Amino acid sequence: MRWNIIVECVEEDGRRSTITLGTIERLAASTTAENLGVNLEESKRIANRLQDTVVKQQLQEHCEQRRKCPTCGKKRPVKDFRRRRLDTVLGTVRLRVPRYRGCQCCSGAQIWSPIPEVFSGRVTPELLHLQVSLGAQISYRKAAALLRMFLPPMGGTTHTTNRSRVHAVGERIDEQIQREIAENRKPDKPADQMIIGIDGAFVKGRPPTDRASQARVQSTVDQLVDWRMEKKQHMRWTRTGAQMLLHARGALINGELGKYTGWSPTDSSLEQAVAA
Ligand SMILES: [Zn+2]
Repeated sequence: MRWNIIVECVEEDGRRSTITLGTIERLAASTTAENLGVNLEESKRIANRLQDTVVKQQLQEHCEQRRKCPTCGKKRPVKDFRRRRLDTVLGTVRLRVPRYRGCQCCSGAQIWSPIPEVFSGRVTPELLHLQVSLGAQISYRKAAALLRMFLPPMGGTTHTTNRSRVHAVGERIDEQIQREIAENRKPDKPADQMIIGIDGAFVKGRPPTDRASQARVQSTVDQLVDWRMEKKQHMRWTRTGAQMLLHARGALINGELGKYTGWSPTDSSLEQAVAA
């Protein structure tokens, strides 16, 4: 028996197009517990094809819309195409995106791309949030291995990428803290709890509105120390690396990680399960 997985795209003007995402096949009279239903590898492959299709069609529509000059309505000339890679929770999508010349009526020959309006880095906020959530709680190697186990193939699932993404988010948090210190910002209302500095390197800059308890901060430090002492992991922490990790972990515990990853999970059960 064979199941064809077909997706139909309906555009706003009613035009329809179909794409076959994949096929599931099982030999007749050979059903066993092992081949019953769709397995994880098949579902990853189909989900990746679906993501590829939806992302490309969305961006194609966006680029076509934005190609029109807002002043005269004419289409801007295409300068060239650039290759881009986007890592998503459902796998990597490889894109070929246009750059346009400016319309002669208004902006001369200025070269311009409509893609940075949608995304600028190589990773979607959802995947970044997932990677940082996991990377803030378990080792980068384990986090990367878990993602490879359950998600379709993508770039950026090595432990080094996981680490660099946690660091990038940690840096955003650090910059925010430094800004608040520089502005000497006062909280809207007094905090019920104050974080007591244990390691001045990371705690002294926390804004007074942060309400993570001392116990949680202590537990964070304890866990980090545990990781450092764990011989199996062979981890060597730089001062900056440890500080960025703690920023990310603190934001996760405070329920504020989404402010820095750009993603607001609708189901935070994973975060709650692992952050507890
Ligand atoms: Zn124009």
